[in-house]
Parts: sequence; structure tokens; C-alpha cells
Amino acid sequence: MIIIMLGAQGTGKGTVAGIISEQTNWPQISTGDIFRKNISEKTELGIEANKYMSKGNLVPDEITIPMVADRLSQEDAKQGAILDGFPRNIKQAQKLDEILKDMGKQVDLVVNLSTPREEIIDRMLTRVVCSNPDCKTTYNTKLHPPKVEGVCDKCGAPLKQREDDSNSEAINRRLEIYENQTAPLVEYYKEKGVLRTETVSVSINRMGKDVAQDIIQLVKKGE
Ligand code: AMP
Repeated sequence: MIIIMLGAQGTGKGTVAGIISEQTNWPQISTGDIFRKNISEKTELGIEANKYMSKGNLVPDEITIPMVADRLSQEDAKQGAILDGFPRNIKQAQKLDEILKDMGKQVDLVVNLSTPREEIIDRMLTRVVCSNPDCKTTYNTKLHPPKVEGVCDKCGAPLKQREDDSNSEAINRRLEIYENQTAPLVEYYKEKGVLRTETVSVSINRMGKDVAQDIIQLVKKGE
């Protein structure tokens, strides 16, 4: 089963994807995490991707699409995968459909996480991530802080703020790109009949972990 997590920055896509991944054993494929790992390892891909990421721009499709195609073809993604941060525009979505078709698969479910706009910026500013690239657990210093300030509960590595979360120009650029290029995917997947919209909000007291449980129930029913 191929699941896509859709939603603006800070809505909890990674958190929901991580919970679903743990309970299904399907890999969470986060393009942002793959790029960040490459940046920390100073690979050629990382150096190239960072030119775009640090400014809040999308990494070009010519780099991103083959990277995802390769990841989806790996053994652990045979039964299913949760895509987190991909696709980000219509071209990526169309290419993904082609890639999956060639594999005899399709997009089965798109979980669209919707969060009030005023909460989104606050969520980016209060997000901290584990600096260990093999752990990369995400916390929110207001909503779900670590037990010890600045230290990852899971692996003990220091927590840090993402570079693109601490730069207001990059934040604004990412939100602009989301509105112009990514949000149209809601309609794209609605027309295909695979979209499920979930509101994640402090104001209505509905958090990512509740959404994840609902999705897992749905997945189990569909199996
Ligand atoms: P994320 O962790 O999903 O917020 O992604 C962080 C950054 O990685 C984005 O702002 C982009 O620069 C880059 N990125 C992640 N996914 C994609 C994608 N599907 N296409 C292009 N760039 C991406």
C-alpha cells in the first residue's frame, strides 16, 4: 500500500508517518530527511540539495524524482511505503503515478493534514530535531517537549533547530511554495478519490498521534 502524507510544514506529517511506519513495518520515505542526511554526510547530492534547501526552495525535480524512484524500488518498500514530503508539485505527482504504474502499484491513500495557518509558523519555530541522522526524532518545545531540554528521549543525542526553520526568509518561501505548488495536489488526489483530510490543531485538541491511529485502523480494514 502506498500512502502519501500531504500538508504544510509543521503539521506533523513526519510524526504521523513515523507512527504508521512503526506499526506497519513499511518504510517512511522522507525526501527532506534523505537530503538532510546527505547534507550532514557532505555527499555530492547533499552539497547540491543544500543550495536550494537553505533558501527554502524546492530541490529540482531532476534530482528528487529519480531519488524517490530508486528508494521505492528497494526491497523493504515492496509491501508498502509512506511518502513524507513527496510529491511537492503536480509534475512530481504525475511522475510518481508513472513510476508506480511500472511497478504494478498505485497511490492508495493520501492523508492531507490541515492545520490553521496561525499555528503553522509557530510549529516551525518551536520544532527541534534529533541531530543523530539515524534517529531524527522530532519534538516541539511547546506541544511535545523532550523529557530533558535539548536531549533526544530516544537516543540521547543533542536536539537542534533545522536551519530552514530558524530563518524567516526560508520559512516564508516554503509557505509560498506550499500554497502555489503543493496545495494544488489536494485537488489532484481528490479527483482520484484517494484523499482523506484530517485537521491537526491545538485549538481543537487533535494531534498527529490521534490521526495516525485512525489511519492505521483504515489500513488494517483495507488489508
Ligand atoms: P521537509 O523536511 O519535507 O520540510 O523538506 C525540507 C526541504 O527539502 C524542502 O524545503 C525542500 O528544499 C527539500 N525537499 C523535500 N522534499 C522535496 C521534494 N519532494 N521536492 C523538492 N524538494 C524537496
